[in-house]
Amino acid sequence: MDGGDLSPVVEFMVSQPGMIERVLAEHIPDAAGDCIGCGGQMRVKWKCVHYECAVLARDRRGRPRP
Ligand SMILES: [Zn+2]
Repeated sequence: MDGGDLSPVVEFMVSQPGMIERVLAEHIPDAAGDCIGCGGQMRVKWKCVHYECAVLARDRRGRPRP
């Protein structure tokens, strides 16, 4: 996915307590470099759009966590 405006998704994630952390915890690469959180059927390469949005949302919230 490219060229899309992700800001509505980012704003939504910022507004949902715990969602950013959950997405960051679930959308991680497996040994083949595919995203686990997106599921095995689609073969989505990590970093997926969910992960990218969660990172942006975390930055937007302005409270980076370890
Ligand atoms: Zn994913």
